[in-house]
Amino acid sequence: MVPTMAQPYPPGGRLPARPDAAKPCPACGDLVGRGYPTCVTCADRVDTYWRADWAALLEGEGVTEGAPEERELATLVLADDLGAHPWTCLDWAMRLVTCPLCRTELGTGNPGCMSCANADQNRWAWDHAAVPKTMTRNEHALRLAVATLRAARHRRKSVVAFWHLSLPFVLAGATPTARQARRIRTHLLANRHEDLAEADSLTAMAILPDLPWRTPTP
Ligand SMILES: [Zn+2]
Ligand SMILES: [Zn+2]
Repeated sequence: MVPTMAQPYPPGGRLPARPDAAKPCPACGDLVGRGYPTCVTCADRVDTYWRADWAALLEGEGVTEGAPEERELATLVLADDLGAHPWTCLDWAMRLVTCPLCRTELGTGNPGCMSCANADQNRWAWDHAAVPKTMTRNEHALRLAVATLRAARHRRKSVVAFWHLSLPFVLAGATPTARQARRIRTHLLANRHEDLAEADSLTAMAILPDLPWRTPTP
């Protein structure tokens, strides 16, 4: 599908208000989002932005959640023109549809699965057409974080760890700059996971001082 601005690219993820700060999860004790998707409470708090848009779509179409028609609707949403639905609905539809080739959640299969690769490629074409008009960079980061964590077993370890650590702050509205992302990943490659987990913002993670043995001697 070729992205076209003739489609509305309706915004997504804006129905429930976002938290104003990263807070501890009552279930797993880590910051909300760090347990995604394993911790049920973290998953629920993160997925609420997707679920609200999907519920609105179901209501508009007169479809009941859990009914066989819901899956049919998901297939129709994925076959529709790119930009006809919010990005959140596209993502949710991918969760409801099993990949016909690798039988896993669509878009989360191994990198060799053509069907998953196509669905994933299409998903990011949405962002390319919509940022910054109807999608903020923060929303793009939120989508990227969640997509990466759902397909974690097929993504690079440092990328997965980066999004695990960053998701609580992204959820609260922060967006990692390219420089911050580079710094944080450098710290991860130096096994600084614990120090990063203690930091209370993306900025604090990025500005962790280098370890002495990593600092070039004068
Ligand atoms: Zn949790
Ligand atoms: Zn697949």
